[in-house]
Amino acid sequence: MEPNQNNWLRTNWIEKGTAQRIFVELKFTLRDCNSLPGVVGTCKETFNLYYQETDSEMGRSLRENQYVKIDTIAADESFTQGDLGERKMKLNTEVRIIGPLSRRGFYLAFQDVGACIALVSVKVYYKKCWSIIENLATFPDTVTGSEFSSLVEVEGACVSDAEEEAENSPKMHCSAEGEWLVPIGKCICRAGFHQKGDACEPCGRGFYKSSSQDLQCSRCPAHSFNDREGSWRCDCEDGYYRALSDPPSVACTRPPSAPQNLVYNINQTTVSLEWSLPADTGGRNDVTYRVICRRCSWEPEECVPCGPNVGYSPAQSGLVDTYVSIVDLLAHANYTFEVEAVNGVSDLSRTQRLFAAVSIATGQAAPSQVSEVIKEKVQQRSIQLSWQEPQQPNGVITEYEIKYYEKDQKDRVYSTVRSKSTSATVNNLKPSTAYVFQIRAFTEAGYGTYGPRLEITTKEEATAAIVSSEQNPVIIIAVVAVAGTIILVFMVFGFIIGRRHCGYSKADQEGDEELYFQCTKTYIDPETYEDPNRAVHQFAKELDASCIKIERVIGAGEFGEVCSGRLKLPGKRDASVAIKTLKVGYTEKQRRDFLCEASIMGQFDHPNVVHLEGVVTRGKPVMIVIEYMENGSLDGFLRKHDGQFTVIQLVGMLRGIAAGMRYLSDMGYVHRDLAARNILVNSNLVCKVSDFGLSRVIDDDPEAVYTTTGGKIPVRWTAPEAIQYRKFTSASDVWSYGIVMWEVMSYGERPYWDMSNQDVIKAIEEGYRLPAPMDCPPGLHQLMLDCWQKDRAERPKFDQIVGILDKMIRNPNTLKTPAGTCTRPISPLLDQSTPDFTAFRSVGEWLEAIKMERYRDNFTAAGYSSLESVARMSIEDVMSLGITLVGHQKKIMSSIQTMRAQMLHLHGTGVQV
Ligand code: AMP
Repeated sequence: MEPNQNNWLRTNWIEKGTAQRIFVELKFTLRDCNSLPGVVGTCKETFNLYYQETDSEMGRSLRENQYVKIDTIAADESFTQGDLGERKMKLNTEVRIIGPLSRRGFYLAFQDVGACIALVSVKVYYKKCWSIIENLATFPDTVTGSEFSSLVEVEGACVSDAEEEAENSPKMHCSAEGEWLVPIGKCICRAGFHQKGDACEPCGRGFYKSSSQDLQCSRCPAHSFNDREGSWRCDCEDGYYRALSDPPSVACTRPPSAPQNLVYNINQTTVSLEWSLPADTGGRNDVTYRVICRRCSWEPEECVPCGPNVGYSPAQSGLVDTYVSIVDLLAHANYTFEVEAVNGVSDLSRTQRLFAAVSIATGQAAPSQVSEVIKEKVQQRSIQLSWQEPQQPNGVITEYEIKYYEKDQKDRVYSTVRSKSTSATVNNLKPSTAYVFQIRAFTEAGYGTYGPRLEITTKEEATAAIVSSEQNPVIIIAVVAVAGTIILVFMVFGFIIGRRHCGYSKADQEGDEELYFQCTKTYIDPETYEDPNRAVHQFAKELDASCIKIERVIGAGEFGEVCSGRLKLPGKRDASVAIKTLKVGYTEKQRRDFLCEASIMGQFDHPNVVHLEGVVTRGKPVMIVIEYMENGSLDGFLRKHDGQFTVIQLVGMLRGIAAGMRYLSDMGYVHRDLAARNILVNSNLVCKVSDFGLSRVIDDDPEAVYTTTGGKIPVRWTAPEAIQYRKFTSASDVWSYGIVMWEVMSYGERPYWDMSNQDVIKAIEEGYRLPAPMDCPPGLHQLMLDCWQKDRAERPKFDQIVGILDKMIRNPNTLKTPAGTCTRPISPLLDQSTPDFTAFRSVGEWLEAIKMERYRDNFTAAGYSSLESVARMSIEDVMSLGITLVGHQKKIMSSIQTMRAQMLHLHGTGVQV
């Protein structure tokens, strides 16, 4: 009854441990002031909740003004004298959240300034994500982050006998609600172990797993075994082997048997051998053959290796075919040849070699080549040569023949000289002339083959005058001029025809193939113009500044203000325009980059691409005049009108964007920064693609960040191949289009929420894709997933996307969301797919229907026991229940709005909020 009450109640010091965000749940009863006589002006119906963070217990030293106020707490339900009599004291429950906390602990304090109140209980708690095993990684109990929107990134530890996948360490994110979200990376069972549930178990006996990359243990391959558990490979049976290059998955093998049917053929000192395949290849298909040659004395038979003078064709070992020729054997000599089949495990085997063999005696043979020739003396008209006897004379050499000819003579007339010794002089040669010499030996068996060619030039007779033939400069100039003209003609011609792609193409229309001639205009990169001013005037109309009236500033562009205004061209109606201005004091480069957007935009003419009216370059400020898009950027527009459009309206917007992109991709223009923020919307909800310019992604887009491949990229909107190796194509634009679809269907939600760019890249690589936004028809989400195919060839073309969206618009039934998931209030208010909330009998039943039953206790504790009381809730009420996930808040809120609308519609009863 006394005024100026100030009564404090303080908790003990509460150590916060690891928690950063603390929930305080208060239960209390409060007496209605109206029911207390004589307290008008002094009685209060609220009390205050405070806290104070400290690092240790402070005893009684804290002063009132040191406490930080959390909230003024009011009761939803108060009681009166009458209630007291009936023992109907209504319990209020309020939850408040404090954080982020930074000290070791805190006090809570309650200030009563004159309320008749009983504080029944105070529950102080925090939330954590409970330890779980996901993808074979253990994630420990994790306390949630300090902000209600923060995700705590947690590294997982592989379970025993598992290892991290290369460059893919397991991570998860603990949400503020204590839920695990977005698993990235994983562990895999190491070699010898396979996954069973959440653990890795050893492979059984007779099984193996050679690498962590394999999923399953496999049975030991043929001719191998193991008798231990947890093996990464199987051992070979006796007599079987595995080559070094053999993977553990192939059967063990053995050396092949000997080649069969070895036959030979002798031609003087050349022996040809032929054989057929061995009966057993040892289980391998890498069989080759090797030959071992031995020369044997006549008697007693004693053999020595043939040595390096013997030639093998095609080779001595590694023979793939079943034949070989052995050349340069000695005449009249005894040889044995062994042919052995070998395979990849022959060298590992210690068993006896298996081969086929023949013994052969060579016949009479001509001498081998004369190869070592020396020029002894070179004169003006004669050359003296000497040489060594051939390595295999194969008999007594009776004569040598020297063949020679003039090197530069066309008809190559030979002359010969003979000599009984190993030297000779060739006379009657011309001075200063190059000659080619070859020598061969002669025995009883005939001539040997000629040795290699030797080139020698005779000495000069007299000094010859050198006639210089300087090139005529006039001719050079003439040739260069003619060539230059030809190149120029080609360039000009190529440039003119380069503007249009013309050609036949096949169109498949409802099964009928027809051939037609099509001409598509092609986009020309303004950078190909040496003079940027020329490019601007090629594609954009120069406007007279007096036709433009600037009215107000509507935004900030990269180069200056963006204004709205009017454009009145002579003989035309005046039109609303957006005017982009170039700020004063610009550099030449800035002017060029600024006008570049006009040079690009001016080439386009499509209802879904922002239209350029013209430019002002000859006055100041320099301006780009564009059609006015009343509703500004699409992302902001959607956020402003969250939940206000029908699905058909949203799909209509998407169809427009796809049609604009189809046009741009047909022109050969790759946008690279397609995102809702770069789409403009006019008053008729027509969406148009905008934001062109060569440097726009780098300089203009706040979303763009530097990546490791160089260059700045708006990661969340960009296809993986464009991030990884800058492969920007219309297919990467299709990926971005999928993200725009998601942005549109979620009314401007940020793609991948607050995940970091790095985590987005990783998650995409892992195969993670954005889930369907709330209320999104499955068909549309499927189309998004198609746009996000890893293989860009698999993504639909813009042409197909337009077709699919057109079909959906024609058959709105395909856009129905399955019952129970559509919770957004849409107009008209009662959509067939919306559940009838008036049919629910309890709050619990309703929560179950919208899949939010986890909050049943929150509703009960806060006293929301009837659907009528729920229908009155505001977003603040929902938040005060301790429902902190924005998605859940929205879901519950939109369901409440629908419920309210249905109640209004069916009962004609308004519900006041
Ligand atoms: P920009 O430099 O193109 O990103 O433009 C900056 C801002 O100006 C945009 O985010 C829009 O809000 C606004 N804007 C640009 N062009 C137009 C237009 N044609 N009609 C209406 N607003 C525009």
